[in-house]
Amino acid sequence: MKFMPLKSTVAGLSVAALLAGAAASAQAEEKFITIGTGGQTGVYYVVGQSVCKLVNRGNKDIKCTAPSTGGSVANLNAIANGEQDMGVAQSDWQYHAYNGDTPDKFPNGANKDLRAVFSVHPEPFTVVARKDSGIKTFDDLKGKRVNVGNPGSGARGTMEVLMGALGWQMSDFKLAAELKSAEQAAALCDNKVDAIVFTVGHPSGTIKEATTSCESVLIPVTGAAIDKLVSDNAYYAKAVIPGGTYDGTDVDVETFGVGATFVSSTKTDEDTVYKVVKAVFDNFDRFKKLHPAFSNLKESNMITNNLSAPLHPGAVKYYKEKGWM
Ligand code: GLU
Repeated sequence: MKFMPLKSTVAGLSVAALLAGAAASAQAEEKFITIGTGGQTGVYYVVGQSVCKLVNRGNKDIKCTAPSTGGSVANLNAIANGEQDMGVAQSDWQYHAYNGDTPDKFPNGANKDLRAVFSVHPEPFTVVARKDSGIKTFDDLKGKRVNVGNPGSGARGTMEVLMGALGWQMSDFKLAAELKSAEQAAALCDNKVDAIVFTVGHPSGTIKEATTSCESVLIPVTGAAIDKLVSDNAYYAKAVIPGGTYDGTDVDVETFGVGATFVSSTKTDEDTVYKVVKAVFDNFDRFKKLHPAFSNLKESNMITNNLSAPLHPGAVKYYKEKGWM
């Protein structure tokens, strides 16, 4: 009797050793990839989650995760540092990351290892104001409490570019808040700010929340400065948010916008990117159903539009196999 515990310990140990061995070999084969997204109520988060869902289902050897992040600029820096394998980023910030012409956003300079994979949905520059604020045009934001977005988001960066084009300073606002995208609808409806700005696909959770939790309206963003930004830069385009997309705004709202893009790096191997691209396009009808902002996507546009960095070889391999290139 008194040897029993010893015997079971020995047996337990050998089982544990076996399990450890099995775990170690499983780990050796499993590849972990990370896709940088944005706030949880944005569309980037759904892009990342959707891609991972399809990748994980089709590839037992890959474990794909898509955490919430600060947005485009944070993702592009994390990819440059090797902290993320892939990410979602606005077309304007993809351009700047590859070309290194905005050192305030990309302190390590041009990332010539950056690779485009495909483009995703359009992202109009979207301004939502409380109805009681009296804001009707973008110019009316001066002297108001405005959430300009968190540093690291592409939305914040594009707001800064627009402000630069208009000759505005942060001090032109009564308050320039730096709330994250997932926090800004509540801040608007709690009357902590008069307006929020967000470069995002539609319909988006954030804008839906901002227009249903309180009375608010979408504000057009038009004028000579916007016309010049669009004509000078291929990564901007005129955009319209159709009337009726959100409560409180029945008319079409004119603005400008960028495209969401999916990017990676030469540091991520060809086989991995190939498998990710294959998971998306082999299941494209399913992918398009995962968010209404994806419903109009077309393969031919996704592999050509809004891509400033060269295509990743793993993506090229799949597109050639399909006869798309
Ligand atoms: N375009 C936004 C950014 O880079 C993110 C939009 C989203 O989360 O869907 O900051």
